[in-house]
Amino acid sequence: MSDKKEYLRDREDSKIGKIVVDRDFCIAASSCIVVTPETYELDGESKAVVTDANAADDETLKTSAESCPTKAILLFDKEGNQIYP
Ligand code: SF4
Repeated sequence: MSDKKEYLRDREDSKIGKIVVDRDFCIAASSCIVVTPETYELDGESKAVVTDANAADDETLKTSAESCPTKAILLFDKEGNQIYP
């Protein structure tokens, strides 16, 4: 069973409505944190968690998700459709 955590986003200028971190895929590579330290940090289990889902703009969030080597970050639009990966 995969261990996914969902973080809702509520920004009027954003098309991204939800960030999902698949904890089973997260290997603590930290590239998401390097790109968006305002959004992610590692928790006590060395898995990425979202500290502020609204902090980054869409472009930065996308770049950050793309930087994840295991594609552990999934992005959804406000209608619930997966837009990355
Ligand atoms: S880049 Fe991916 S693997 Fe690395 S900490 Fe972030 S979510 Fe985890």
